[in-house]
Amino acid sequence: MVRERCTSPTKGGQPCQAFALPDEAVCWSHHPDNQGAVKDAQRRGGTNRSAARRAAKAWAAAGKQIRPQELPDLLRGCILRVATGQMEPAQASAIANLAKASVQLTAELELEQRIAALERAAGMNQHGNGIRMVK
Ligand SMILES: [Zn+2]
Repeated sequence: MVRERCTSPTKGGQPCQAFALPDEAVCWSHHPDNQGAVKDAQRRGGTNRSAARRAAKAWAAAGKQIRPQELPDLLRGCILRVATGQMEPAQASAIANLAKASVQLTAELELEQRIAALERAAGMNQHGNGIRMVK
C-alpha cells in the first residue's frame, strides 16, 4: 500500500510533506478534528520560546557561578527538561556545545599552567608564543 501525501498546503503555501492519515486526504495536523490540539501545541511552543529566553538570561547571569564539576548535573537537568518539554532542544544543544567548549578550554588552560610550572621547575625562562610566559 502506497502512503499518500497530505493534500493541504502549509501556511507558507508549499505542499505539506507529511503523510496523509489512512483513508484521509490530509495529515494529522491538517485534519479538521485535530485543530484544537494543533492550536494548543502552537501556543505551548510560544510559551516555551519565551520561557527559553528567560532561562537564557538567567543562565547568562549565573554563568560565572557554574563550576566545571557542576556541568554534568546541569546537562542532566537539560536532558530532563527537553524530555518533558520544558526546554527547547535547540537551547539544550547550545548549552551542551558551550559546556563542551568550557571543558576543553579549562583543560587547555590547566595544561598551559602545568607546562609553565614544569618550565619554572626546570629553570627555563622562555617567552615562546606569548601564552607560556614564565614569570
Ligand atoms: Zn498536512
